Amino acid sequence: MAASPSLHTLSAPCAVAVIGAGVSGLACAHELAQEGLSVSLFDKARGPGGRMSSKRRPQATLDLGAQAFTVRDPRFAQAVNEWQLAGCAVLWPTHRYQASSSGWQTHNDDQRRYTGAPRMSAITRHMTEALSALPGVNMAFETPIVALTKGEAGWLLTDQHGATHGPFAAVVVSAPPPQAYSLIADWDDALAAACQAAPQRGCWAGWAIFAQPLPPIEGVVPNWHTVETGHEALRLATRNSSKPGREEQPESLSLLAQLDWSDDHIELASDDAAQQLLDAFTSLFPEGTTLPELIDLGAHRWRYAQPANAGRQSYLYSEQGLALCGDSFRGSRVEDAWLSGYELAQALLGRSV
Ligand SMILES: Cc1cc2nc3c(=O)[nH]c(=O)nc-3n(C[C@H](O)[C@H](O)[C@H](O)COP(=O)(O)OP(=O)(O)OC[C@H]3O[C@@H](n4cnc5c(N)ncnc54)[C@H](O)[C@@H]3O)c2cc1C
Repeated sequence: MAASPSLHTLSAPCAVAVIGAGVSGLACAHELAQEGLSVSLFDKARGPGGRMSSKRRPQATLDLGAQAFTVRDPRFAQAVNEWQLAGCAVLWPTHRYQASSSGWQTHNDDQRRYTGAPRMSAITRHMTEALSALPGVNMAFETPIVALTKGEAGWLLTDQHGATHGPFAAVVVSAPPPQAYSLIADWDDALAAACQAAPQRGCWAGWAIFAQPLPPIEGVVPNWHTVETGHEALRLATRNSSKPGREEQPESLSLLAQLDWSDDHIELASDDAAQQLLDAFTSLFPEGTTLPELIDLGAHRWRYAQPANAGRQSYLYSEQGLALCGDSFRGSRVEDAWLSGYELAQALLGRSV
C-alpha cells in the first residue's frame, strides 16, 4: 500500500541510510542492498533486534519484547520459511493457557506461531549476517543518530558522538514515531504530523528466574508454554525454558504487563514493577502455593512498545528522500514491521507491491 506521493526512485549506486536495526529496518536495508544500493545501517543499541531483542542473564536468556509471532502474508511467510531453514525460527508455543478466576483453560487456536531459536534475537542476528554479506553495506551499532541535515550532496547524519555520516540520497527512519519525530520534524511537516498522529503505548516486561521448575497445576500439562491472564497487571507469562534451544536453562519467565497497567505505572522503579508482575503471576496459582527459590528478578521498561491505534499505512516517504517505516504505521506485530520495511524498499526501488 503506497502511502505518500512521488519520490524519485533509487537505483545503484545510490547511498541510503537506514536508522534502526529492528526487523523493519533490516528488511528494508536488505531489499535495497540486494539491488546494489550502498546501505549504511545505524542503531543506538549494542546489537540488532529492537523490540525483538533478548536479555542475557548469567543463568538464562529471556525474550523481553515479542515472544512469538504469527504469519499471514505470503511474502512474510517466505522470509519465515528461510529463517526456519536457517534454524533461527521455530514453531512455538503449542501449550497455551488462559488463566481466570475459574482456573486455567487451554487457549489454543488454529494459528501457527513462531519464535526465535535459541532466542528471539537470533532472527534479527541472522538478518544482520545476511545483510552484511552483501556488497556496499556498512553497519554501525552503539551509534544513536541525533540530527539530520540536508546539504547540496544529500542528507548528512550526525551521531551522538559528534561524527557526521553521509551524504545519502535517502534516509529511512525505522525508529518508533516519537523517536523518529525528533529527527525529521525540522525537515518535513507531513511526516512530522504522521509521527504525532501515531502515539505509542508503553509496556513493562519483567523476568523471573527460579532455581527449580514451577510446581504443577491440576489439569495443566507440566510443560505448559504460555498463560494469558485477565489480571489487572499481568497480560502474559511465557516460559523461556520451554522455547526450543533453551531447554537446558532453569525455569525462566517473561512477564509482560497489561498495557493499561503499564500506562498507569510507566514511571515505577523497575524493581517495583518486577515485584508487582511476579506477585500477579504468583496469584495465578492456588492459594498457599509457594514458588521455588527466586534467583533473579527484573523488569525492562518499553516506553514505545506498540502503536496506540491500528495503522492504515505501511510506510511513508517524502519527495526529498526521507522515509518512515516500522510496525507503527501498519499494525503492532513482527509481521507488520517486516512488511513495512519490505514494502518501503519496493517503493523506493520503483516497484509496485
Ligand atoms: C513487550 C512486547 C511484546 C510484543 N509481543 C509481540 C507478539 O507477541 N507478536 C508480535 O508479532 N509482535 C509483538 N511485539 C511487537 C514487535 O516486537 C514489533 O512490532 C517489532 O519488533 C517492531 O520492529 P520495528 O523494526 O518496527 O521497530 P524496533 O524493533 O523498535 O526497531 C527500531 C530500532 O531503532 C533503533 N533506534 C531508535 N532511535 C534511534 C536513533 N536515534 N538512532 C539509532 N537507532 C535508533 C532502536 O534501537 C531499535 O533497534 C511486541 C513488542 C513488545 C515491546
